[in-house]
Amino acid sequence: MSTLERTLGLIKPDAVRAGKSREIMQLAELSGFQLLAKKTLQLSQERAEEFYAEHQGKPFFPGLVGFMTSGPLYAMVLGREDAVKSWRGLMGPTNSLTAREQQPTCLRALYGTNGTQNATHGSDSSASANREIAFFFPELQPDALEGPEATATYLQE
Ligand code: GDP
Ligand code: MG
Repeated sequence: MSTLERTLGLIKPDAVRAGKSREIMQLAELSGFQLLAKKTLQLSQERAEEFYAEHQGKPFFPGLVGFMTSGPLYAMVLGREDAVKSWRGLMGPTNSLTAREQQPTCLRALYGTNGTQNATHGSDSSASANREIAFFFPELQPDALEGPEATATYLQE
């Protein structure tokens, strides 16, 4: 029996600007993910800093926040067996240039540009996924994240 796990995926502003959002969502679905919820939004500087709080103080942090606030993005709740690990596998290495060398068919190789502008985000653990889903989808009750009614609840969004 397979268990549905959820992860938070982002289509970052570079890929949205390039008009690749739909293609990335289609690839996600072809790779077995259910698109349980999605929304488009623009992050403020404060919200971007909060989302990436773990990286505060690192040299790339200001550039990362500038990039993440540079235009609209898509936030997605993705469901699949082993979703956290599978989505990170589909995205590939963090740096898009490395990704092109090591995993040319991954999302970051196909749609990203460099070390910062890398097209997609995925939660790094199920604890992060719960936190990040709540960050982007506060209107979804935590209860809606578990159990058989979850899909129906999400799809009403
Ligand atoms: P992820 O979980 O694979 O997205 O990577 P991290 O959590 O380590 O970093 C968050 C985001 O910061 C990455 O997706 C990149 O956009 C950016 N980033 C991470 N490391 C670097 C780096 O060494 N240089 C630059 N320029 N950007 C980075
Ligand atoms: Mg990360």
